[in-house]
Amino acid sequence: LVARKNHKQDTVIILPGDVTVGGLSSLMVAGPCSVESELQTRTVAAALQKAGVRVMRGGAFKPRTSPYDFQGLGMDGLRILREAATEYGLLTISEIVDPRHIDQALDYVDIVQIGARNMHNFELLKAVGELNKPVLLKRGLSATLEEFLHAAEYIMSRGNTQVMLIERGIRTYEKWTRNTLDISAVPILKQESHLPVLVDVTHSTGRKDILIPCAKAALAAGADGIMVEVHPDPATALSDAAQQLNIEEFNTFFDEVKASGLFR
Ligand code: PEP
Ligand code: MN
Repeated sequence: LVARKNHKQDTVIILPGDVTVGGLSSLMVAGPCSVESELQTRTVAAALQKAGVRVMRGGAFKPRTSPYDFQGLGMDGLRILREAATEYGLLTISEIVDPRHIDQALDYVDIVQIGARNMHNFELLKAVGELNKPVLLKRGLSATLEEFLHAAEYIMSRGNTQVMLIERGIRTYEKWTRNTLDISAVPILKQESHLPVLVDVTHSTGRKDILIPCAKAALAAGADGIMVEVHPDPATALSDAAQQLNIEEFNTFFDEVKASGLFR
């Protein structure tokens, strides 16, 4: 079902408010790593609306490496995200980690994110496969492209055709980036599949100083959209403090990406 050979046309996912993913226009998804408070979330939402962004991300169920790190605000976080997004006319995307949370989360999220660590969680994939709601599937930390597409197939095989893929970097020996952005994944996924392909420049690089060239490279390689983390005061962020852009940096980032002519 994911394969290009059976489906020549690019899939275009139509979100509320006529926002589309795939096809002719590029998508910018931005927002904080974690939803931390109403003020933090509303501050980002206001800035995104001003910048012309339509889809806001914000994690509420955070799959942290250490159980002692901030785990997210859970359902409260999703409610905060929804309220801020609605106030500023934005759509929401947030990660769901447990099938038991799905029903309630549907009131709050326009796009369900499946995180890298859950790309192999087949029961979760099957559960979101039952939904009539777009799903953003992240590539696993060490997943091959074949495994990635099989994970998408799990979702589609249950009837949900609204699947978007996102490259978020893979584990390699390189230490100067958090992960290695596999830019070749973009043209390969576009060739092998008809699904929209995005690139998360924040988690793939883990460093702010190379986000602009990486976003341009992703778009030049054929990506349908970019994801980037934005926080009003990254230094105080409860997760990913080192790599989130502040609002001014985000505005520069988005302006430069648009000025490249690669963002359609
Ligand atoms: C995220 O986008 O919030 C996230 C945790 O990313 P990943 O699953 O790619 O590590
Ligand atoms: Mn993050």
